[in-house]
Amino acid sequence: MSRFLVPALHDLQAYVPGEQPGGRQYIKLNANEAPFPPSPLLKQRIGAAELEKLNLYPDANGTAAKKKLAALEGLLPENICLANGSDEALMFAFLAFCDSERAAVLPDITYSFYQVQAKLFGVPLRQIPLAADFSLQAKDYFNAGGTIFIPNPNAPSGMMISLQQIESILAANAENVVIIDEAYVYFGCPSAAPLIAKYPNLLVVRTLSKSASLAGMRFGYALGNAELIADLERVRNSINPYNLDRLALLAGETFADDEEYYRANCTKICATRESTTAALREMGFFCTQSRANFIFSSHPQAKAEDLLLGLRERGILVRHFNQPPIENYLRISVGRQEDMQLLLQAIREILAAR
Ligand SMILES: *Cc1c(COP(=O)(O)O)cnc(C)c1O
Repeated sequence: MSRFLVPALHDLQAYVPGEQPGGRQYIKLNANEAPFPPSPLLKQRIGAAELEKLNLYPDANGTAAKKKLAALEGLLPENICLANGSDEALMFAFLAFCDSERAAVLPDITYSFYQVQAKLFGVPLRQIPLAADFSLQAKDYFNAGGTIFIPNPNAPSGMMISLQQIESILAANAENVVIIDEAYVYFGCPSAAPLIAKYPNLLVVRTLSKSASLAGMRFGYALGNAELIADLERVRNSINPYNLDRLALLAGETFADDEEYYRANCTKICATRESTTAALREMGFFCTQSRANFIFSSHPQAKAEDLLLGLRERGILVRHFNQPPIENYLRISVGRQEDMQLLLQAIREILAAR
């Protein structure tokens, strides 16, 4: 820390992303990335001709991508704001809908980036405890008195709430914006996007990082009523009007054009998740009912940290959050079927060697 850093940031704990190791080849099951490449169509489209256009600014409105992505949801371009990853969409929402008087209301065990953003922008936090089984009770969010952030499915539990529960939260918070972070929505959880027409306080946040094999590209978006979106656009145009580069815009369009390809990949991931979960349970692991592309798991006799290190030695990276009450859980991203076979084999070895 330099002596120039403003006091408000002195005790800011920045978000720590999953490790991206160099050198040794690891099986990466630590950042919820997709194990499959992006659509072959994208390779065709990003050719020399596209690269030669990089001397020109991209379309600051992302018109073509907006039109196609909105159409997928039966919405209009005025219902979508594009962002450099969904983290940026979340940042716009923090700036537009939270301040020192309007708290961020969120589950106590959830995506830790929200907490970092709240601290960065001086927004008070109201953290609502999940039940001991990590389930989220909709009624705890009624009349929240602040802007609500809920990932559905939640991270790192992977557990989802129903659209009825979401609707009850929306109805009981007419004066608050409710942000449903759908980073993992393509893995077997219904989207809240169809509720946008009915609830002007609903903002749905999406990313192409997990379900569309585009974590390396940085493409996210927010869906909502035209007025909410105009608020986000006001923030976006004040921070970085060219927040999406030409290649990212092309990737967003290609996602919309080849949604089938991505949906098929997500179906494979879900099948692998279920078979891996069953195998882990057979070994004595507790696993939540995940609707995401990761498994949240704990073994009653083996410490998560020991498993983490044992797996690392065997060339497999998973994620561990060293904070109570989840310090004995691992978050394991779902890779290819063959990756998960190697994971299960490695875990068998580690358990047998204890
Ligand atoms: C991964 C993740 C994000 C961020 O995704 P990017 O689009 O890569 O920034 C947002 N929310 C949740 C819940 C996530 O797990």
